[in-house]
Amino acid sequence: MSSPALPTRFDPKEVEARWQASWERGGVFRAPDQPRGATFSMVLPPPNVTGVLTLGHMLGDTVMDAVARHHRMRGTATLWVPGLDHAGLATQVEVRRRLAKQGVRFEELPPEQAIREVENWRVEHERRIREQTRGGGFSVDWSRFRYTMDPESVRATREAFVSLYRAGLIYRGERLVNWDPRLRTAISDLEVVHTEEEGTLYYVRYPWADGTLGGMEVATARPETIFGDVAVAVHPDDARYAEAWGKFVVVPLSHRRVPVIADRAVDPTFGAGALKITPRHDPVDREVAGRHPDLADPVEIFDESARLVGPWVPSPFHGLDREAGRARAVEELDREGLLLRQEPYRRSVGRSERSEAVVEPRLSTQWFVRMAPLAEPVVAAVRAGEIRIHPERWTLTFFRWMEGIEDWCISRQILWGHRIPVARCRTCGQESVSILPPTTCEHCGSPELAPEPDVLDTWFTSWLWPFEALGWPARTSDLGHYYPTQLLVTGRDIMFFWVARMMMAGYRFTGTKPFSDVYFTGMLLDERGRRMSKHLGNSPDPLDVIAQHGADAMRFALVFPNPTSEDGAFGRPALDGARNFLTKLWNLVRFTLPYVPPGTGPVVGPPSLSPTSALEDRWILSRYRRAVDEVDRAFGDFDPTRAATGLHGFVWHDLADRYVEIAKESLAGRRGDPALREARATLLFVVERTLRLLHPFVPHVTEELWHALPHAGELLATAPWPSSAEAPSDPVAEVEMETVLEAIRLLRNLRADEHVATTSLPPAWIRPAGPEVARVLEQQRGTVARLARVNPLQLLAPGTPPPDGVGSRVAPLGECYLERPSTSPADTEALAREREKLAGLLEKTRTRLDGPGFRARAPPEVVQEAEEKLRDLTERVRRIDEHLKPRGSRDGER
Ligand SMILES: [Zn+2]
Repeated sequence: MSSPALPTRFDPKEVEARWQASWERGGVFRAPDQPRGATFSMVLPPPNVTGVLTLGHMLGDTVMDAVARHHRMRGTATLWVPGLDHAGLATQVEVRRRLAKQGVRFEELPPEQAIREVENWRVEHERRIREQTRGGGFSVDWSRFRYTMDPESVRATREAFVSLYRAGLIYRGERLVNWDPRLRTAISDLEVVHTEEEGTLYYVRYPWADGTLGGMEVATARPETIFGDVAVAVHPDDARYAEAWGKFVVVPLSHRRVPVIADRAVDPTFGAGALKITPRHDPVDREVAGRHPDLADPVEIFDESARLVGPWVPSPFHGLDREAGRARAVEELDREGLLLRQEPYRRSVGRSERSEAVVEPRLSTQWFVRMAPLAEPVVAAVRAGEIRIHPERWTLTFFRWMEGIEDWCISRQILWGHRIPVARCRTCGQESVSILPPTTCEHCGSPELAPEPDVLDTWFTSWLWPFEALGWPARTSDLGHYYPTQLLVTGRDIMFFWVARMMMAGYRFTGTKPFSDVYFTGMLLDERGRRMSKHLGNSPDPLDVIAQHGADAMRFALVFPNPTSEDGAFGRPALDGARNFLTKLWNLVRFTLPYVPPGTGPVVGPPSLSPTSALEDRWILSRYRRAVDEVDRAFGDFDPTRAATGLHGFVWHDLADRYVEIAKESLAGRRGDPALREARATLLFVVERTLRLLHPFVPHVTEELWHALPHAGELLATAPWPSSAEAPSDPVAEVEMETVLEAIRLLRNLRADEHVATTSLPPAWIRPAGPEVARVLEQQRGTVARLARVNPLQLLAPGTPPPDGVGSRVAPLGECYLERPSTSPADTEALAREREKLAGLLEKTRTRLDGPGFRARAPPEVVQEAEEKLRDLTERVRRIDEHLKPRGSRDGER
């Protein structure tokens, strides 16, 4: 039943914590184990244990939470599974960095201790991530929380590996991989960040091996790789070199003979048209070498840290890293007279996303997944609309990548992660691959097994997430009830890392899609339009934002006004806007409470109105009905911003500004008892149902306000979602109200045109455009006059001339006239008082703008706002001054 009056001010801190505790206590977010009827499920993209949640996570979580709460209120058994990703390499890098600050090298710790350090890290960060998720009010089912390193995940990861291995879809092979020499591990193509960097192009002479003068002029950006050369290649159509094919040159510094070969991969316009071929350190060179089987087998010239080593590297260079090796090589080439010239050269350099080290292409033995056969059913499914991508434009990008997909290197030479479930037999040399770690060789029975030292790429576990999180490979009842899931919400930056691979894993391991719809959120930008990032330090901790503005304000600012699927600015203006909206909502309910007589029962439906009931009551019910339909449609289209925008407009303009203002007459009892009863019932119905509609977006404040009103049930979070069918549609009332609102707008504009002081109520006239408008305006004359602040308002018959001394406006509904302020002492005085007030404000604004350091220190948009205010006030004062001039001089101007 209705509780005592609400406090004047909404204090999110206390309110939010209280309801979060109530929801958890009430088990509201716990999905039923044995659901009956429709289900809705989704998995939370498990955040990396590497760090804490960012505002970008909050954006995705807000979208997911709105959808989950909407489904829950519609009575659907709703499951939202939370989790945490162990984030192998990324976490190891963070722990390594932290230990380095204490002077400890991660690699030198005994493995058990190193793992313990990672575990400590996990515990600390998991606590913070849970706190952040709770703080946002997100309705995940904590009882089903999963971690990608828990025993179930270990089992699932091994199962997936073994199954692909047995199907011939996993192989071990020597390939050029992206090698991170700082972390000393292979990384995937997706973990390499390419940027244009300034470098130098060196022109080097490779002398002829037969001692004749001259030689081949070869351009290279990396002279330190000269030691790995096996040939010099030219384009077969390049006439400059027709004579050179088949001849031999000497590789400078390393003094080996290599042939000049012809290959179509050479770009004759690059440098002097001759390319050195270093197959172990360049993918193109490796392809070229593959087409020329007579070339010498290349020898490795770098160790795991990319320091020069090996028989082809002369001893003075041994142990030099790439940079020192390059400087030394340039110096020696110059001394030997083989360095012809150098020129500045911009080139694309790949750096490791994790360590920022320049990636070295390196030929090494790694494990790979054959992707093409896995991609095939996914491409077909997306083409057939079995899985839909929102916004749809990302489908093209998706196909482009899927169709050119390359094999996935899944082995990592690090400690933190799932071990590759392969053991090599020391007796027969063969591999044993099994879900449970083997004790004897599956080929010869020998117990002499050496487990594979590498671990799996983190994504090899994450790609199983939608079904693994529900218990796969065990045939759990959750898997039966809640799989396939319906929706996946994530950032488009992991479309390939994760989303596409989950689809492949879903079809491969479960025979069906892992989800039906994928929704990509946009990227958040700061107020200066830069992407929010940890690196720039422009992404505040969500818990700070919540502490300052409240979780509801943060959530609403994330979905409104910028569309959640577009890149958009998030900051003070959006947060202030959201906070103002919540205050408006708070005040609306506070306004409503006194009209709820004691003993009023829960709202079961709208009052039944008659055609003679007040126009505003009939209108707001019809508008409300339309708002429900719009919200439902927007949810159906995966457009949370459209739903929030519709509700914002409905609450702010229709309900609070228009309906409440118009209905005040009935609510005050000035139109008699039946009107009072209907207005009270209408107000309570619409306000109560609107709280339900807003609940998915701003759950805390709506829960608090709902409890202040008569209600049935324990919690708004489990109250039924409103059905638009409850309220009648009344197109006549909507059209009539449009006329009334238009008349009010016109008269208000006239007041502004004529500089009517705020306190004055001048007479006004309307000559309606037709009998229909005349009828409506006649009926609603009191409302129009009251809201437009005119008195009296008279309707003019067609042909009647307007009175003298009026300002006028012409609009489709007719002509409006307003008496100009007279020069009567009372009006002049009122206007002079207004001028004084405005002038005071103007002075204050000017002082603020001119204040020491204001322009330099305040954010640009604050300065801009103050400047606009200054201009506006100056103009208003000027116009009043003009009006206050003696009447004679004004007339003279006309
Ligand atoms: Zn064996």
